Amino acid sequence: MTTSTQAKIPVLDLSPEIDSLWDELNAALQRVLRSGQFILGPEVKAFEEEVAAYLGVKHAIGVNSGTDALIIGLRALGIGPGDEVITTPFSFFATAESISNVGAKPVFVDVEEGSFNLDPGLIEEKITPRTKAIMPVHLFGRPCELDAVMAIAKRHRLKVIEDCAQSFGARYRGRQTGTIGDLGAFSFFPSKNLGTYGDGGLVTTNDDAVAELARMLRAHGSKKKYHNQLLGYNSRLDSLQAAILRVKLPRIDGWNEQRREVVGRYNQLLADVPGVITPELTDGHVFHQYTIRLSANRDEVQARLERQGVSTMVYYPIPQDRLPVYHGQYPANPVSDRLAQQVLSLPIWPSLSAECQERVTGALQAALQPDLP
Ligand SMILES: *Cc1c(COP(=O)(O)O)cnc(C)c1O
Repeated sequence: MTTSTQAKIPVLDLSPEIDSLWDELNAALQRVLRSGQFILGPEVKAFEEEVAAYLGVKHAIGVNSGTDALIIGLRALGIGPGDEVITTPFSFFATAESISNVGAKPVFVDVEEGSFNLDPGLIEEKITPRTKAIMPVHLFGRPCELDAVMAIAKRHRLKVIEDCAQSFGARYRGRQTGTIGDLGAFSFFPSKNLGTYGDGGLVTTNDDAVAELARMLRAHGSKKKYHNQLLGYNSRLDSLQAAILRVKLPRIDGWNEQRREVVGRYNQLLADVPGVITPELTDGHVFHQYTIRLSANRDEVQARLERQGVSTMVYYPIPQDRLPVYHGQYPANPVSDRLAQQVLSLPIWPSLSAECQERVTGALQAALQPDLP
């Protein structure tokens, strides 16, 4: 079985999207270049209004990255040194890093095996007098169990900050993620479901006072230029990114629907493959990643797939609490530790063809054979 004549399949291919939007993107970029306004300005304001309307949230504040959205979000909610924030071990490091960077302590609560998300049943035992907030992550685009999280937060008077970096357009019981907790933090990193062609992020909230603080924090802690009131950041969304996002925003629901169709096909193709557990196609899930679990030899299977021209990724090989930066500070989270050994994310993007998917699943089945050289 040689694949040498076939093109490699990457984990993500943005070129079909860029090709399909080429003229509109060029017009948007030229409009910004001619405007002479490159940071914030009317383009960012228009995007903030459009994205707030799309999400159904009162305030949307464009910032420099998803990481900054988390940091600014935490600070706007009043979280800082001495506070504890409950979050998931199974996420990209920006989640815990943002908590540590505002001087608070991340407290990790293990995840549910099937959803990869924070297990609400394990939250309360980790609450202490220092706990100020819960930061759930809607991992891979699957909304976490927010009803349960919100009920616990209410009972213990905690803030909820949703890490929506992977969940743009996902809905929990019909409502957009990032609009249910006290605050949402989104990323527009190029590979995210709504990605731009650079860095970008967004803070969302329905709280006027929190929104005002977030707006100040992104602009050096000032409401009025040169009248800085607190220590903030230089974390403004730039106009070129906002103009690109305005071209892409009206397409996001269609693209997310296409992702779900891709997932339906993958799940069918892999339904009877022994040793492979496929993700559930749940309501509102937007599949930033299509992540399967393998019962054995994940790294070997990944290497074999690569040799057959199919690129895959492991999100995440090391849970956050196990990273060298937190060495020795945390007890084990058995589910998260196990998932880190089992997960494999297959190629996914909205226009991924059925033919490519068949090549991926065919290569996977071959790679799972124990007697392969
Ligand atoms: C991408 C990501 C972030 C950070 O977003 P950036 O825009 O890259 O800073 C935070 N949390 C999660 C879960 C992410 O996937």
